Amino acid sequence: MHELQIAQNIITIINEELEKNNRTEKVRDVVFVAGRMRAIIPETLTFSFDVQKKEHRQLSDANLTIREVDIIIQCRDCGAQHSIDEPTFHCKKCLSTNIEIKSGNELYVDCVELFDGNEEKG
Ligand SMILES: [Zn+2]
Repeated sequence: MHELQIAQNIITIINEELEKNNRTEKVRDVVFVAGRMRAIIPETLTFSFDVQKKEHRQLSDANLTIREVDIIIQCRDCGAQHSIDEPTFHCKKCLSTNIEIKSGNELYVDCVELFDGNEEKG
């Protein structure tokens, strides 16, 4: 159930950001970026967020969008890049395990939009 913890973190981050910027408007949209390496189940995270947001005045109407990022590995030996579905970290072309992870580890709040239309980067 790490989605529960992540939903809590998202709410904490947004609340801190709102406070820091002295914003009192309600939040309309939240875009959260999650690399597939993090193995997050979007439905579970959305559900956890929706349950917890009700306890926060500024977040009670917020709509959470989760943008998943594919895992992309690059082979250090032959340079080939692959998008992988499972964490099987070898090059599909030359089978080398000398690979670099280019993306898939992301886990951050990308964008918070308030009801007045102003955007806060967070
Ligand atoms: Zn290779």
